[in-house]
Amino acid sequence: MSRVYNFAAGPSIFPEPVLEQARDELLEWHGAGVSVLEMSHRGKDFVGIAEKAEADLRELLAIPTDYKVLFLQGGATGQFAAVPLNLLRGKNKVAYVDTGIWSQKAIAEAKRYAEVAVAASAKSQNYSTIPPRGEWVLDPEAAYLHYTANETIGGVEYQDIPDSNGLPLVADASSNILSRSLDINRLAALYAGAQKNAGPAGITIVIAREDLLGQALPITPSILDWKLQADNGSMLNTPPTYNWYLLGLVLEWLKEQGGLAAIEARNIRKAEKLYGAIDASAFYSSPVDPAVRSRMNVPFRLANADLEKVFLQEARAAGLVNLEGHRSVGGLRASIYNALPEAGVDALVTFLAEFEAQHG
Ligand SMILES: *Cc1c(COP(=O)(O)O)cnc(C)c1O
Repeated sequence: MSRVYNFAAGPSIFPEPVLEQARDELLEWHGAGVSVLEMSHRGKDFVGIAEKAEADLRELLAIPTDYKVLFLQGGATGQFAAVPLNLLRGKNKVAYVDTGIWSQKAIAEAKRYAEVAVAASAKSQNYSTIPPRGEWVLDPEAAYLHYTANETIGGVEYQDIPDSNGLPLVADASSNILSRSLDINRLAALYAGAQKNAGPAGITIVIAREDLLGQALPITPSILDWKLQADNGSMLNTPPTYNWYLLGLVLEWLKEQGGLAAIEARNIRKAEKLYGAIDASAFYSSPVDPAVRSRMNVPFRLANADLEKVFLQEARAAGLVNLEGHRSVGGLRASIYNALPEAGVDALVTFLAEFEAQHG
């Protein structure tokens, strides 16, 4: 067996110790006589797994007690609908910042339920930056302000939580949750599909301030109703039990790594190494404004785009896979999530230099 360094954007690399633990526990979990796959979601073993995952998430992100934590299905895309459905609360207008493809998808879904006021857009800069906060126009009548904390495809990331001028603030943190410390108190709600930086596809984290719940639009499907889900421990219907368990193992692993402070320090080092190598060479370039470059997703280009195919082939031969950019933007992209070891970034940096020496 030889595992490679997987730079995929999602589903993405898992911490190897987590895969080993899941393998070791697959047939029988902790003397229960059955696999986690075979457990009732209402049984005490699974309820214990679920509660431990919530407790670990609360600890890692320092989630205040007046916030509910939900583990749902339907991905971040499901939450694109759930956000307006749950948070309109009698209003008919919502505000979104448009920083790229994931913002646009969130906006398109919100338009089914509300009037969307775009507070700012980076479209005219080809989504290579985040419009400065001073240029945002916030509609005070909006029910909330939504932003995409990290644009997985474009590679732009907010370095701080933006000031929402009193509007309830909602973050799509799908691709940078648990990669850096975050002051949850400043958010009304946050959601994240787990498959980028937190675990497997098929489970979605929602964190929402309790006082905002209970006013979902009457048309809200029950499984997207945050209050109903909160009242039912995210088990209104059968939850994705195995995914929940795997997510829990990743959370335990994050705690063993030293928690978010240690993970963030490592992520800063990894990103600095990779951007440093790209910036130091005229052969490679980054299309993103240095002030808002993502620590998780690093798009880059070759001066000679004709070499991309060879680059990908040779990278694969060197054990570095899934470095192609998203099909909508082309180019190259390295996703360097929590689970990608620093040695993986070192290997990529070495490969970049070798490839340039050969083809530059
Ligand atoms: C991947 C992604 C989504 C969509 O996630 P699904 O779980 O596939 O619905 C939404 N927002 C961001 C920022 C993403 O990276």
